[in-house]
Amino acid sequence: MIIDSKGNKWYKGNLHMHTTSSDGARTPAEAMRIYKDKGYDFIALTDHWHVNEPDEYEGMLVLSGVEYDLTRDECYHIVGYGLREDPRLEREAEPQQMIDAIKSAGGVATLAHPAWSLQRPDKMVQLKGVDCTEIYNSVSGYPFSARPYSGTLIDVATTMGFRAVLTSTDDTHYYGEDAGRGIVYVKATELSRDAIISGILKGDVVPTNGPFIEWELRGSRFAVTVPDGCRYVQFFTNKYYSPQTTATGGTVREAYFDVDPKVTFIRAEAVGFDGLTAYTQYIYF
Ligand SMILES: [Zn+2]
Ligand SMILES: [Zn+2]
Repeated sequence: MIIDSKGNKWYKGNLHMHTTSSDGARTPAEAMRIYKDKGYDFIALTDHWHVNEPDEYEGMLVLSGVEYDLTRDECYHIVGYGLREDPRLEREAEPQQMIDAIKSAGGVATLAHPAWSLQRPDKMVQLKGVDCTEIYNSVSGYPFSARPYSGTLIDVATTMGFRAVLTSTDDTHYYGEDAGRGIVYVKATELSRDAIISGILKGDVVPTNGPFIEWELRGSRFAVTVPDGCRYVQFFTNKYYSPQTTATGGTVREAYFDVDPKVTFIRAEAVGFDGLTAYTQYIYF
């Protein structure tokens, strides 16, 4: 847990992981032990087509979860967590049915690893009720696969009207290099299912590979603060080019982008000297 500059609590979590209940390498008990030892405040066990019950492990909150997938000519993986009941979905379900079933069961619906899935932005905007999407997914990257980063794809979808809270997850299968690189910090007043889910749905989420980041809009100025400093901060908007895109030089702790009327959305990434990145959420205008 991190306390930010205003005194708010941000709980550390992993919202996407697999166990021996599907194709993960560790049992649920082993998985909980590993994440507890890594200092996590909460996790969600999201096995393929297997709804895990909510749990608690030595003070660590364990959210219920599941991952539904469809792989035909197109690939969709929809992760749900915080479910209050088993959606009892049939294997033939379409992506929209997966989202609807997760939400009817009280859960949060996430479009998982869109870049890895080669998701089409024109199809992404047609999905209704997507709460979150993963800007980063550990197991989609080296050495297990490729395309862990979905930021560019989500930016394109966002220009077309797609809206979702960004998360960063491990999607842990192997409990090696895939464990501990995809992190969310969620702002909440307490560590409980309801407070964490509420924080996620409000977008009070820092998706990151490790470092923490703060941001706010001060009038028309988008301000980013990196408490531990970083190598550079980059801003992403609907504009092809802006001279304000990159803030660099020495150790960057604060960076700004003055938004003009042509900007319809903005987000930022802070890249550390070790390459580890923290992401802001989108702000829309
Ligand atoms: Zn998946
Ligand atoms: Zn997965």
